Amino acid sequence: MTAPLGEFDLIARYFTRPVRRAVLGVGDDCALLAAPAANEQIAISSDMLVEGRHFLPGADPAALGHKALAVNLSDLAAVGARPHAFTLALALPKADPRWLEGFARGLFALAEAHDIELVGGDTTRGPRNLCITVLGLVPRGQALLRSGARPGDDLWVSGTVGDARLALGHRLGEWTLDAQTQAATFARMDRPEPRVALGLALRGVAQAALDISDGLLADLGHLLRASRVGATVDADACPASAALAAQPLQRRRLCQLAGGDDYELLFTAPPAARNAVAAAAAQAATPVTRIGRIDAEPGLRLIDASGQVLDNVYAGFDHFRTP
Ligand code: ADP
Ligand code: MG
Repeated sequence: MTAPLGEFDLIARYFTRPVRRAVLGVGDDCALLAAPAANEQIAISSDMLVEGRHFLPGADPAALGHKALAVNLSDLAAVGARPHAFTLALALPKADPRWLEGFARGLFALAEAHDIELVGGDTTRGPRNLCITVLGLVPRGQALLRSGARPGDDLWVSGTVGDARLALGHRLGEWTLDAQTQAATFARMDRPEPRVALGLALRGVAQAALDISDGLLADLGHLLRASRVGATVDADACPASAALAAQPLQRRRLCQLAGGDDYELLFTAPPAARNAVAAAAAQAATPVTRIGRIDAEPGLRLIDASGQVLDNVYAGFDHFRTP
């Protein structure tokens, strides 16, 4: 019988990797990183995934490793920062080698894909909780903020929105998806691809940006408040996957406008920058779609393709308000 895995064996076995960029990684009281160049700023963000809240007990550990880092990389993407280093704080009910091996595999595969390195963290026993803090670098003054939108800007979104909500509805029993639709949409929910390359390409092109985690219209509301502007959104222009486009209209709208967990970028740019936006999208190999415009008049107006005004009943997810 093998001895149970201790805290320090666990850290050494699963979370200690040689560092390339950091001066000192896992193993001492602090990690050490070289200070950024004088013309750079450090972007920092934390995101936590809690069992029972963000994922169900029994969720695939490799997918959790991917998603825990992906949601953090999405925040770096939203400001146009280049991924640099991250820390991992883990609470686990037990030291289960099978779970740890899968989690580390999913985590490091995405970390390598985005050239970001794990430099430290904390490990404790407790209800399963995964908290990552990412550090990124951005040229001074070039971070894309929520507050930069101006009246007359086009409103753009990357990729497609709503698949994660479509998958969630199936898991919650709100509707039933066929096997093919399940396969397509569960992948979007469980393994979101952060739009890091697009965020970098949009520096100097977009005026304002954020990533969509709680629902397109809810997150747009954050951007509008920060920029003190309003917007008109064409619900029919919002890009849908083939799987979502095949759903009934009301369900499709709910998933696209109020669904969470998309991790697409929502951004604004002046109409004169349309070619530059297209070039950024091509450079990042990420499709983008124009879905509306920024107005001087506060508030959010939702229309359909014919210009008909729709009721905005699409509140997003709020951890303390949504049941
Ligand atoms: P301290 O006693 O200072 O809190 P710990 O004993 O918690 O340090 O951690 C020892 C080392 O292991 C530190 O370098 C810490 O950053 C690192 N570490 C702990 N947990 C993790 C983890 N889940 N992932 C990466 N590094 C970790
Ligand atoms: Mg500690």
